[in-house]
Parts: sequence; C-alpha cells; structure tokens
Amino acid sequence: MSQDYSLGTVEVALTPVQRLEEYLQSKGKRVTQQRRIIVEQVFARHEHFDADDLLAQLRDLIGPKKVSRPTVYRTLTELVEAGLLRKMTLGGRSVYEHDYGYPQHDHLHCTKCDKLIEFSSDEVKKIRDDVGREHQFRVTGHRLIITGVCSDCSRSRRTARPHDLI
Ligand SMILES: [Zn+2]
Ligand SMILES: [Zn+2]
Repeated sequence: MSQDYSLGTVEVALTPVQRLEEYLQSKGKRVTQQRRIIVEQVFARHEHFDADDLLAQLRDLIGPKKVSRPTVYRTLTELVEAGLLRKMTLGGRSVYEHDYGYPQHDHLHCTKCDKLIEFSSDEVKKIRDDVGREHQFRVTGHRLIITGVCSDCSRSRRTARPHDLI
C-alpha cells in the first residue's frame, strides 16, 4: 500500500477544560470540580470508550462513592454538545472519542473483538464532497464505519478469543 491513511494533527487554542468552560458559560453554567475531573480523565489519552468504561476509570481514580452514573452520562452529553467529544453507535453501544483537537477520521470496526482502527482518506472526503455537490447539499461532515474482522481475530479464530477491547 503506497497510500497514506494516517491521521494528521490539529492545533487548538484552548484546552478541553477551557473550551467546556466557554460552552457552559454560554448556558449560564459552571465547570464543577467533578466535571473538571471527568474532562481531564477523558482527555488524558485518545481512546474509544463507553460510559461504563469511563465510570470504572473515575471510580478507580477518585473513589467509588465520588462519582455517580447520572453525572457521567450528563457530562458526556455536555461534552458532545460542546464539540469536545464525538459519539457513535456500534452494535447498540454508544462509544465516545475526542473530537476537539483531533483530526477528522473514519473507522474499521472489528465485529469480533470491537476493536476500532482509525484511518483518514482524501478519496473518501472527495467522494463525500462530489456527491454533496451533485445534490446541492452543503456537506458538514460524514461518518464511515467499515465493519469486518481484524487481523488478530482472523488469525486466532481457532485459538482463544482475544479480550483486548478498545
Ligand atoms: Zn478483532
Ligand atoms: Zn476514532
């Protein structure tokens, strides 16, 4: 493969917490200590996660009684509305990942182990824009998820099932 499907980088002026502060201010709300901890945890590294993954991480970090499920759900919704996170639905499960400060990309989704592989393709963007133009449609984004079986899962089909959920 000579084609480059790697992701570029995006520069942003504000930190995720500052960006959330700005968004919440416009709604007359403030960044509470709990929200701040959640944002910091979410943006510590790029990964694909669901609300339960995040809740488990937070309970490890600050103690099981310190954070409730409704708070995590509410904050995730705010982070999506503020443009910090992107939400996708995979097999009925809501999965989140960074949007703010992270380049536009698409995914390969392994239906055996739920692994997500990221890629970026100019051809996909071109097709999207061409089709949009043909329909006088103002394109603001797209989402492409290619489903199938990853190389690890096809290799280990006859051995143990991998548990490396990402
Ligand atoms: Zn797999
Ligand atoms: Zn991704």
